[in-house]
Amino acid sequence: MDKHRTIIIGGGVTGLAAGYVSDLPLYEAKEVPGGICSSYYLKAGESTPRFKCPSDDEAYRFEIGGGHWIFGGDPTVLHFIKSLTPVKSYNRSSAVYFPDENLYVPYPIQNNLAYLGKDIASKAISEISNAPKRVPVTMEEWLEINFGKTLTDKFFAPFHELYTAGLWTKIAPQDAYKSPINIDAVVQGASSDQKKPEVGYNVTYLYPEEGLDVVASKISSKCNINYGKNVVEINTSKNEIGFDDGTGVKYGNVLSTLPLNKALEAVSIEVESSFDDYTSVLVLNIGAKKGKNCPEYHWLYLPYSRSGFHRVGFYSNVDSSFLPVSSREDNNKVSIYIEKAYQNGSKPSDEEIKSYSNSVVNELKDWGFISDAEVVHPTWIDVAYTWARPGSNWKETALNELQKKNIFQIGRYGRWTFQGIAESIRDGFYAGSSF
Ligand SMILES: Cc1cc2nc3c(=O)[nH]c(=O)nc-3n(C[C@H](O)[C@H](O)[C@H](O)COP(=O)(O)OP(=O)(O)OC[C@H]3O[C@@H](n4cnc5c(N)ncnc54)[C@H](O)[C@@H]3O)c2cc1C
Repeated sequence: MDKHRTIIIGGGVTGLAAGYVSDLPLYEAKEVPGGICSSYYLKAGESTPRFKCPSDDEAYRFEIGGGHWIFGGDPTVLHFIKSLTPVKSYNRSSAVYFPDENLYVPYPIQNNLAYLGKDIASKAISEISNAPKRVPVTMEEWLEINFGKTLTDKFFAPFHELYTAGLWTKIAPQDAYKSPINIDAVVQGASSDQKKPEVGYNVTYLYPEEGLDVVASKISSKCNINYGKNVVEINTSKNEIGFDDGTGVKYGNVLSTLPLNKALEAVSIEVESSFDDYTSVLVLNIGAKKGKNCPEYHWLYLPYSRSGFHRVGFYSNVDSSFLPVSSREDNNKVSIYIEKAYQNGSKPSDEEIKSYSNSVVNELKDWGFISDAEVVHPTWIDVAYTWARPGSNWKETALNELQKKNIFQIGRYGRWTFQGIAESIRDGFYAGSSF
């Protein structure tokens, strides 16, 4: 190969988009394209994922990273996705769930205070209206300044403790747009428990009629991909990439979608300041007979759960095509994804995951969400949510150091940022066409 050639690492949606517009060679560790956005199938009683739907269509369809809905995004990227495969549009339906009270408060909680009773509503309104003017340093401070002590104690603190795996008191505020605050909407929401107009970043979203994996497989069919190529080293003095099968490839430039911390490890660069935190997510995909109290929401945020998860999503409440074909009409089954966060890659052992899975199934049964579970399958997303310590310049330094060595980091994990599928595809298009 031409030693000045640019290569792409990673066949998730970012790398695929870069490969699609450039035809540059792409190296992917797994045997399938799509990264976190790949789907897989399991029939009742099975535990080994199938990456193709069985011919009788009698399988649950799950996603590696839990439900992945295409929200926001540049119209041109959405147009591209629609040109690959038909998509449907859905109106978000989500809530905060307080299991001990069996109480559902529609999202966002601050605009639906009537559900929490007069006392909490009036305290929350007074605290939000008289928010202190200081600039928050941590996520904890940001939450309390914006939402006041009452709502923070009731929901935001315990939820963020779970969602960030305890990091929320140390990390900088991030993603303010996920919890928009408008005092008029807050006051209006305290007066009646009628659901209020939807706000936030994912009011409507798209999902491919034939499943998300169709997007990855259609893009990948136009890419020059080498599967089963797990990069273990990037040797910047020899301009050579080493794979775990003992082979290597020369490069001129690298477009890398590896998470930023993993790219530094592969290059053996140590950045002076300590690295920024991240959370890993254990996703538990469950297919089950529906319980008598199974809600109709698309997903729920939890301030507490016995098993320690913070979000429960219902694939089949979004679309029945996630269910085995014979159950789609009857509405007697449900497919669910459950997310639990861990600090900085601290993966539980197989035994711990087994015991956690049993605990989740029992908890969902106790709530009446499911009766018998037919499939229970865990997936591990090592770098799922990336954070920054207040004042940290780790990310900028790391990106600069890699760039000096012709390694260009792209995508959500490459650039250590929060973004969805459509933005990741846009990143890939942009980077791919620049080389
Ligand atoms: C829990 C969770 C829920 C989410 N929900 C949504 C949602 O609802 N909607 C939405 O739009 N976005 C969502 N996202 C974000 C979305 O997943 C990302 O924006 C997108 O998947 C990023 O794609 P990527 O290609 O950059 O990364 P990845 O999908 O991680 O792809 C990286 C690829 O690199 C490969 N790779 C890794 N290491 C190596 C190596 N050493 N050598 C070779 N290859 C390697 C991996 O196998 C993978 O294929 C969610 C993310 C998480 C974590």
